Amino acid sequence: MKVLSNLWRIYLFVILSTAFALAVLGAYQWHMVKKDADTELRYLNDVSFTSTRAMLDYQKSIFDRLSEDFVVPDNNNGIEKLKSTIDRVVKHNPEIAAFMVRDPEGKLMAASSQIAPINNLGTLINDPLTQYNLQRTLKQNKPVIGSNRFIPQLNKQIIAVHYAVRNNGKVIAVLTSAIEHSIDRYAWNNSRLTRGTILQLFRDDYHFIYSSRPQYQQDPKEYLVPIPAVMVDYFIEQMQVQEGVSPDTLRSGGKLVSVNALFAPGMDALFTIRYEPYYNYYTLTSIERHSLYGEFLPTLSWQIAMMIAFNFLLFLMFKLFNQEQKKSQKRLVFQANHDQLTGLPNRYYLASHFDSWSASCQGKFALFFIDLDNFKVINDHYGHSTGDNILIEVARRIEVQFKDLNIRHGGDEFIIFIPEVDRAFLLQLANNFINDLMQPITAHNTEFSVTSSIGIVCAPNNGSELEVLLSKADIAMYEAKKHRNEAFLFSDELEQRSAYHTAIERELRSAIERNELSMVYQPQVATSTGKTIGVEALVRWNNRQLGIVPPCDFIPIAESIGIMNELGQFITFTAITEIEELCRQVGPLRLSINVSVQQLLTDGFFEFFQAEIERRPNDDLSLTLEVTESMFIEDLQLAIFVLQRFSNIGVEISLDDFGTGFSSLSLLSSLPIHELKIDKSFIDDILNDEKAKRLVHSIISIGKDLKLTTIAEGVEEKTQLAILQVFGCDLIQGYYYSKPLTKVNLLAFLLTGDTKALANQ
Ligand code: C2E
Ligand code: CA
Ligand code: CA
Repeated sequence: MKVLSNLWRIYLFVILSTAFALAVLGAYQWHMVKKDADTELRYLNDVSFTSTRAMLDYQKSIFDRLSEDFVVPDNNNGIEKLKSTIDRVVKHNPEIAAFMVRDPEGKLMAASSQIAPINNLGTLINDPLTQYNLQRTLKQNKPVIGSNRFIPQLNKQIIAVHYAVRNNGKVIAVLTSAIEHSIDRYAWNNSRLTRGTILQLFRDDYHFIYSSRPQYQQDPKEYLVPIPAVMVDYFIEQMQVQEGVSPDTLRSGGKLVSVNALFAPGMDALFTIRYEPYYNYYTLTSIERHSLYGEFLPTLSWQIAMMIAFNFLLFLMFKLFNQEQKKSQKRLVFQANHDQLTGLPNRYYLASHFDSWSASCQGKFALFFIDLDNFKVINDHYGHSTGDNILIEVARRIEVQFKDLNIRHGGDEFIIFIPEVDRAFLLQLANNFINDLMQPITAHNTEFSVTSSIGIVCAPNNGSELEVLLSKADIAMYEAKKHRNEAFLFSDELEQRSAYHTAIERELRSAIERNELSMVYQPQVATSTGKTIGVEALVRWNNRQLGIVPPCDFIPIAESIGIMNELGQFITFTAITEIEELCRQVGPLRLSINVSVQQLLTDGFFEFFQAEIERRPNDDLSLTLEVTESMFIEDLQLAIFVLQRFSNIGVEISLDDFGTGFSSLSLLSSLPIHELKIDKSFIDDILNDEKAKRLVHSIISIGKDLKLTTIAEGVEEKTQLAILQVFGCDLIQGYYYSKPLTKVNLLAFLLTGDTKALANQ
């Protein structure tokens, strides 16, 4: 399941909140509607209660007046008189539909003219209900509410009120007035009842006196049916539960009570009820719940509609937001996955797309790891904006050549994926690209020729995981870097070399502590005399695991991991100590010590070196530093300053590996150096390469011109020596005379001069 975004969560929250608010509002409104309804019911009940009582009081006053001088008629004349009296009463009281007078047995004595003609009035009077009411009336000394009746002849629904007339405590007649129901005055009229309110009056024998329910209007016989006992019982129980009012309390207090009762699923209503204790009737007003809905639901529906409309608008707004958010998210994702400068995908892109790309070519592909050579120099010398322009052009050239997956890995590193694994083809491709990159790039009016080194790995041969491939490509690239502007295919042998490199790095840190380092010395012989005038100190490392590690393997590593200074101090200390001792036995000797640029430029190296000389003062010992031309590449002035300090305290400077670097002749004359050491590679070629031979000759001539000593290294053959002698080279160093020797062997060498005997040690 897709998880909702934060935005949609907020939306959901808003919907739920508005729904909740609406529910609360709805509940409140419902409560208010009920409260209003209750107020109205109470008012209506009150009005009906009091008006009914007023009506009965009025009836009572009529009865009282009639009974004051009531005489039981004993002849026709008396009856006529009684009739006219009651007709007058009916005439003056519009609510009285008819009036009759009966004797205590219930026999009709007189009736008002409206009902007098009714034939069966006598029979009517004799029915059990009438008798029952008569009995009730006889027992009371007050008006008694009788039964409802529909009088078809009058076409009226009436309610009878009876009164027993007494003379000396004895009932002499029973008066009955028939009150018409729908008389406004008594608030029994439906027109007063709004929005479904129902008014009902009933006697304490649970017969309705009046009900505004429609069925009572349609079929007045309904009045003859008493309220079912279950209903009464339930109502009493609810009254007790909801209001804590018992029937007795209700009947004694005349109190108005509100009850919410549910008679049946369809009949759920609010009621108010009150009891009149004198005339013994109840007024009951009620309203059914569904009638209240009519008032409540329109508002609620309107509010729900508003809420839906609001939420819909909000939905549209959120959708818009969401779209915008998605767009900007997409933009961000693109930015996060692409290099801003060149627009190429970056390493994050690579990490997330590598698997699918690899799968698309069944895991068979090659990876080029491209690193621009000396790019730092361009940045430092020409500024970053020039560097940026060059990178943009490089990226463009990559895109022109390679169409699959090109990544800017960072800085001046690019990664190219090619769905090919043919090694010859890949090498060709890489070399073509190197050439392509070398075509001039113009940035800020300067032309640059960019050289690069490319490491190549093939999947699945060299691995399938990105991490593995990258680290192997990196190894191959570093190998290519050694030669510059080259492409190199990764091989297991290369990996072993890399592992060897790592092992050296690990072991070298504690080599001095473990006493694995020692010094050997290679004699330097004067061509003129054949005498050894000095030695070059060379360091040796015999490691517990790696065995003998040649210095050209570990010196660069010592430099790269920053322990060259420590190593250099050991070398200087040991060499000076050992050769100084030797001087005391064999006389003057010159000690040449190799120092790297890093060492020379380290703060305090000069002071250390000076202290070492002073530690073993010996006039027979002279010191030379062998430095390479790389010394002068970075900061010429600083190099001159540093070397001058050594020169000032009598330490000579020899320019090692001379001829392989790029020093100009004009530069040479301004440097504080004393010796040119012709590189072994020229000596190697001197016999069969005319060019090398001439170069050696030139170097020796320049040396002479600049009054610099010249020394040839790597002299192995007598023939080489012969040529060098002819050219006038001052000093010779090489296996021809001796391999580098330990201090002990050097002593023997110096004492015997027997080169052959010691050469193979
Ligand atoms: P380098 O300073 O040019 O040292 C000369 C190298 O040529 C030495 O190799 C030496 O043994 C070798 N060699 C001398 N004569 C012959 C010969 O006739 N034939 C052949 N095939 N080789 C000859 P090594 O000792 O292996 O040193 C290699 C490089 O390591 C040195 O080159 C130097 O750059 C560096 N290195 C050696 N010792 C030290 C040191 O104590 N300090 C520093 N900074 N670098 C050192
Ligand atoms: Ca050297
Ligand atoms: Ca050298």
